Amino acid sequence: MKYLDEYRDEAPIRRTAQEIKRIASRRWRVMEVCGGQTHSILRNGIHQLLEGSVEFLHGPGCPVCVTPISFIDRAIAIAGQPGVTLCSYGDMLRVPGSRESLLSARAGGADVRTVYSPLDALLLAQRQPDRKVVFFAVGFETTAPANAMAVLQARRLGISNFLVLSAMVLVPPAIRALLATPEVGVDGFLGPGHVCSVAGSSDYEAIAQDFRVPFVITGFEPLDLMEGVLRLVRQLEAGETCVVNQYSRSVRAAGNLRARQAMNEVLVPEDREWRGIGVIPGSGLTVSPEYRAHDALAAYGMGLPAAEEGNGCIAGLILQGLRKPADCPAFGKNCSPEHPMGATMVSSEGACAAYFAYPSVSPDSLQEVRS
Ligand code: SF4
Repeated sequence: MKYLDEYRDEAPIRRTAQEIKRIASRRWRVMEVCGGQTHSILRNGIHQLLEGSVEFLHGPGCPVCVTPISFIDRAIAIAGQPGVTLCSYGDMLRVPGSRESLLSARAGGADVRTVYSPLDALLLAQRQPDRKVVFFAVGFETTAPANAMAVLQARRLGISNFLVLSAMVLVPPAIRALLATPEVGVDGFLGPGHVCSVAGSSDYEAIAQDFRVPFVITGFEPLDLMEGVLRLVRQLEAGETCVVNQYSRSVRAAGNLRARQAMNEVLVPEDREWRGIGVIPGSGLTVSPEYRAHDALAAYGMGLPAAEEGNGCIAGLILQGLRKPADCPAFGKNCSPEHPMGATMVSSEGACAAYFAYPSVSPDSLQEVRS
């Protein structure tokens, strides 16, 4: 297939759903790792088309959602320093910290800006050399190369007032941590296509073998996801535990070597807390000592403060597939996109936001709900 529309064509989507239902001998618990896939599943009613044969669990694949409160508190503290302009993505500014969000800090006078890429922040640093411009970098392997390249570019151009507050994280350690948690009952995974486009598939092959669980790396269109589920259910029914690449139009086994090179040059792994989940060994990316001059944490020399969720938000359980958004007593009542209590309701990739946006998509109206 060559055109996007072909991945949204209703007839093959329904045919594939029927085939999944025909071969599924039981209800399989499938976790999609990426928040973009969660939204596509909900938006297109795929979970309803497969009801009875597949239960979707929503994994920790939303970078805004997993950024710990302590990092938001730290970003707010840095934004309050004299001469600092703090930049991040729009969703990130709305996520509540322990006491306030970056948006409310801006209302209180801090210089907090919305940007669409790290290069926007780099340009801002170039234009205002008298201020420190701190880019609050969240994201997975997908965005880490661009962040790393911004640091490389800053060094090349001698832009010394560009700094990165790195809250970047890696997907494979989080999946390992989930699989090592006895309560998390995942039968198989839809692997994150965009992440694998950068990082490749070898990490997932090791996880599949270590935990005896199958993966199918998929894209984001409805037919991508439906085909991914079919290949996963085939493996599950046959008792196989391989990594299958459904998203071959984008993913190569070795990933994107130039992107990985930039990441490896500028960033190093470290243990990292995930919001509502806890510390996952080796799951964070921080600025390497070699690029310390561009590390906001090094520049401001403060340890991350301990912070508590404390408002009854169960996003941590949702991100581990242990609960669904509708299980949260606050869902749609005290918590909504206009008044979010947790990051999963704020983020455009969050599971709570997806359930709120697509509450009753009928499988009969697949044609209408396609975007
Ligand atoms: S509905 Fe709101 S409070 Fe409940 S888990 Fe989702 S974000 Fe947290």
